[in-house]
Amino acid sequence: MAAADASRREKWTPGTEVVGRFNFAGDTTDDLPFQKGDILIIVAASKDPNWYKAKRQDNLSREGMIPTTYVMQRSAVKLHAMPWYHGKISREEAERLLHPRKDGLYLIRESVNYPGDFTLCVCFEGNVEHYRVTRRNNQLTVDHEEYFETLTKLVEHYQADADGLCTRLRKPLDKQGQYEYESNLSEFKKTGWAIARSDLVLGDKLGGGEFGEVFAGDFRGMKVAIKTLKDKQAVQAFLKEASVMTALRHPHLVQLLGVCCDGGVGQPIYIVTEFLAKGCLVDYLRSRGRSVIRQKDQAEFSRDVASGMAYLESKNLVHRDLAARNVLVSIEGKAKVSDFGLARDATHNLEGGKFPIKWTAPEALRHSKFSTKSDVWSYGIMLWELYSFGRVPYPRVPLAEVTQHVESGYRMDAPDNCPPEVYSIMKRCWDIVPERRPEFSVLFTELAQIASSA
Ligand code: ADP
Ligand code: MG
Repeated sequence: MAAADASRREKWTPGTEVVGRFNFAGDTTDDLPFQKGDILIIVAASKDPNWYKAKRQDNLSREGMIPTTYVMQRSAVKLHAMPWYHGKISREEAERLLHPRKDGLYLIRESVNYPGDFTLCVCFEGNVEHYRVTRRNNQLTVDHEEYFETLTKLVEHYQADADGLCTRLRKPLDKQGQYEYESNLSEFKKTGWAIARSDLVLGDKLGGGEFGEVFAGDFRGMKVAIKTLKDKQAVQAFLKEASVMTALRHPHLVQLLGVCCDGGVGQPIYIVTEFLAKGCLVDYLRSRGRSVIRQKDQAEFSRDVASGMAYLESKNLVHRDLAARNVLVSIEGKAKVSDFGLARDATHNLEGGKFPIKWTAPEALRHSKFSTKSDVWSYGIMLWELYSFGRVPYPRVPLAEVTQHVESGYRMDAPDNCPPEVYSIMKRCWDIVPERRPEFSVLFTELAQIASSA
């Protein structure tokens, strides 16, 4: 195999995920056969650096030897920062910011007149030129001649050459404060997360997602969930969700399997995750009710969610949309946190945005202060949903009045038959002072205790 592969190779520790680059039939019964695209987990190194002991992700009991040259390591997809992207600012604001008007000083903003499109603003001979960047089939263009997958690629192109613009882009005007990030489909291929379209079969519709519909499906004989993207404008948000998921692996978080993006421009993009047969927790609670679900089940669901959230907490990731509707239940009855559509690095706070009011902490609603502690607040609301068998929180309080009520000290009563120790946890999660709310690692310990004695 190519020398580049050998030099790139690092020592893999147990638990490292690799993905098949070629089919491997195996020579002896000690070998673990696999196909291109199969996911394998490293079990141990061997004396020969070219061979590792591994197991299959879809059949953990099957172990054997694999040749390193036939696989590549899977790694997290990184997002690209866009320091020159200023978001939704007006034309006048862009012109005010672009100073001194040196030729080639530039920024990109979201178009005010055409939301979802962008405007490239470039200084030239003391003026500011505004070029509309439009979208076609997931691609971006200024002139309908050159097309780019991302703004970063567009910027790189016009940095190298004016190519019809008044000047080439020379110096970005960096945004103050937090940068926006963008993701890029080719990153998913490079990091081993690409899934071949021919390996997927779409099945029944499971539900309506934020970006599009969610289907059951088959991926190489494994039952999976397939999230589709309806609104092409949302491709960046969709890919951000997937890229957050590439960095996560935990038994109580819904596992990403990969992203399907081959077939070129205009082909739909899919996010493929493990399938959770019993669907979302809120429907599960409502349909089974008190006759089926016992206090022990409720405590176990609570513990499972706390465990997944403690893992996110340890990674400094904020979920922002924790609610019973975003928890899924597996065939064995394990709860897993899903829907990382709004998840972000704790240091990254978005301005504005739509948030699920009844689940969101007051400081997050008022001042966009999202943190692990605002997730803890939402966790308290989810506990209330769990112990009330899927009721909508703050029954009888109109949505517009919830925040005011909560800020003046109102808290929901305990659901009927809720154990007092669980209600006291809810109340600690709803402390108005974020720092006083418990950590997820503590909540996990307490709920594990409650579950084992229930
Ligand atoms: P959204 O982005 O709109 O919040 P979700 O990820 O919550 O989308 O998915 C919408 C619905 O699709 C869920 O409520 C659930 O019923 C179903 N669903 C999503 N993912 C899975 C999965 N992995 N297994 C089973 N059902 C799923
Ligand atoms: Mg959801």
